[in-house]
Amino acid sequence: MKKKIVILPGDGIGKEVTTEGKKVLVKIAELFGHAFEFEEASIGHDAIEATGTPLPDETLTKLKNCDAILFGAVGHPKYDNDPTLKVRPEQGLLKMRKELGLYANLRPIKLFDELLEASSIKPEILKGSDILFFRELTGDVYFGEKGRKDNGNTAFDLMIYQRYEVERIAHKAFQAARTRKKKVTSVDKANVLESSRLWREVVQEIGKQYPDILLEHQFVDAAAMKLIQNPKSFDVVVTGNLFGDILTDEASQIAGSMGMLASASVGDKVGLYEPIHGSAHDITGKGIANPLASILSVALMIDISFGLKVESETVIKAVEQTLKQGYRTADIADAKTSKEKILNTGKMGAQVVNQIATVRDRIPVSNK
Ligand code: NAD
Repeated sequence: MKKKIVILPGDGIGKEVTTEGKKVLVKIAELFGHAFEFEEASIGHDAIEATGTPLPDETLTKLKNCDAILFGAVGHPKYDNDPTLKVRPEQGLLKMRKELGLYANLRPIKLFDELLEASSIKPEILKGSDILFFRELTGDVYFGEKGRKDNGNTAFDLMIYQRYEVERIAHKAFQAARTRKKKVTSVDKANVLESSRLWREVVQEIGKQYPDILLEHQFVDAAAMKLIQNPKSFDVVVTGNLFGDILTDEASQIAGSMGMLASASVGDKVGLYEPIHGSAHDITGKGIANPLASILSVALMIDISFGLKVESETVIKAVEQTLKQGYRTADIADAKTSKEKILNTGKMGAQVVNQIATVRDRIPVSNK
């Protein structure tokens, strides 16, 4: 299979983790006989410094002409500490989602058994949790009208949803539930918000087209509590942009660390794959970032965008084997991890790459 992949490292640890993700793509291409062509492009603070804009036209052109995108993260302390700066790295991210029509963000939350102890939640509550989030990406307060009035003393962000935006993500969630445990939980705040009432109305309508799927509704405050109290009660969760942003970070604790969770942003064209974590300035340049979320993003890419199921499974199994052998980055190590088994970013990437060859050798010839 021939595919063109754009690597968008972005800022901070984005560069460190996408380097490891790319190594995995190179190994998969070599072992399974695919031709992956790579191009790099700039976004975020890096792009602002070089061109004055967080998403240069040159980057956008490359993104519109490729088969998939491996993204790192954007962000820099300069902007976090000065909210008055008008040109900001995250504008590049929002513009990219809008321009590429990436309206659904998928976040699988699945805990590797080896990391049960790394979470702050009790292992018996966690074990067996397997949730797939669908977060809407192109509507809500992020894109509604915003501004200030009364000499800057009143601020507003309009929470806005249109019927078609809810319909298309609801379809994606119901279709995914058909391949899983056949349950969809739609999360909103319909007791208070009009946009949530539209959300609920539309999800109910679409749900009628999927009579084999159990649909339940939860208010976002209750869902936040139940995620921690009984994560196993969820299968597919579908929610708006703001609620999804918050709930998926909360759910990252189920997986033990931000460094373990991958995500896919899809629409009707090219797909974008990225870890859920940010640019992590506190550890940038120290070589200790966990690259597994970026590597698991690669597994999502080759499955969802390229349909390479065996190759994707191989990457996931290679990560599992690496963890089984006791290897950890610092963020997922615990008191039982010996010093020699705590790896830096590059060595963790190399371990997974080595394991890919071993896992591939065990695949029955008929499936290769
Ligand atoms: P963050 O995800 O960057 O970091 C949160 C904590 O998790 C930090 O302590 C960090 O060290 C740790 N962490 C994150 N990824 C890790 C990894 N791979 N390995 C080990 N530890 C890891 O979130 P933040 O600190 O709130 O934000 C930092 C910057 O990232 C900000 O500028 C923010 O705007 C930006 N950000 C960008 C994105 C994105 O590009 N998609 C997402 C969230 C935050």
